[in-house]
Amino acid sequence: MNINDFDLKSISTHIEGTGDFISIDNDKCNLCNRCLVICIMNLWKKREGKIVLAEDYKQKCVECAACYQVCEPGAISFQYPAGGTGVVFEQG
Ligand code: SF4
Ligand code: SF4
Repeated sequence: MNINDFDLKSISTHIEGTGDFISIDNDKCNLCNRCLVICIMNLWKKREGKIVLAEDYKQKCVECAACYQVCEPGAISFQYPAGGTGVVFEQG
């Protein structure tokens, strides 16, 4: 099974009202595409020569911080959502 076929939404609950917790500074971005490749939820896109984050990322992001970790020029800012978490996973 491909990770992209795995329905994380079915085992997770998103908490509303967390506020923005990821942002990008396009002036620092070198268009390396690493964030596009690493995000298992496919939330980064290249649009008109710029990297953009999906508008509904707060509903889909699993807060893995991988995009933040791979961004060498530090264009991506990430902080855990207000209140500690925006996503809760259920197991079993
Ligand atoms: S934190 Fe993880 S899931 Fe969220 S946008 Fe970054 S890579 Fe994607
Ligand atoms: S990882 Fe950082 S530098 Fe690379 S494309 Fe994404 S935002 Fe730009």
